[in-house]
Amino acid sequence: MLDADFFRRWMRTAAASVDREAERLTALDSAIGDADHGSNLRRGFTAVATALEKEAPDTPGGVLILAGRQLISTVGGASGPLYGTLLRRAGKALGDAAEVDEEELAAALRAGVEGVMALGGAAPGDKTMIDALMPAVDALGTGFGAARAAAEEGAAATVPLRARKGRASYLGERSVGHQDPGATSSALLIAALAETAE
Ligand code: ADP
Ligand code: MG
Ligand code: MG
Repeated sequence: MLDADFFRRWMRTAAASVDREAERLTALDSAIGDADHGSNLRRGFTAVATALEKEAPDTPGGVLILAGRQLISTVGGASGPLYGTLLRRAGKALGDAAEVDEEELAAALRAGVEGVMALGGAAPGDKTMIDALMPAVDALGTGFGAARAAAEEGAAATVPLRARKGRASYLGERSVGHQDPGATSSALLIAALAETAE
């Protein structure tokens, strides 16, 4: 079973990973966006880690809702409200249970991904974070390692796609040949989840 401590460790691991990879995320965003994805998420996840230390919510749902709220209020870019929605929706789906199992986590993340699609209007194949998140959620039933591999494959598979949502879509055909920054950061979040479960 996964308790609030597991979810706090997931968010801390994600924050450390985003911090380490921020330059790479920004470099990807400089090719097809406005070169701020790494700094946006670094600011957001630093705020998440700080807030979790201060408030230490005692349920999995409480951790994800607090994290989502921090991302929405501290990240200026499109990714803030989208990742914020992912985590808040997932947190709400978990309710106030003190512990959840992997199946409940998978269902909650699926609700979160559906919230992101409803907010941003993106579908799979539009070259966004959805292209890493959706395959990860689909694979989570098989285990955390499978989810991580699926997210990484999904992010890599955005390279030949043409962006249909977000800033990269303004480039049209010129968005082809670059990996989507948000799909890349989504793969980091799922990798952090798998690492926490190890
Ligand atoms: P901004 O584009 O406002 O500078 P970021 O650079 O932080 O924001 O985030 C860009 C990422 O957000 C993209 O790489 C993409 O994965 C994701 N994104 C943008 N728009 C959407 C959308 N409508 N639906 C899903 N994801 C999106
Ligand atoms: Mg950007
Ligand atoms: Mg921006």
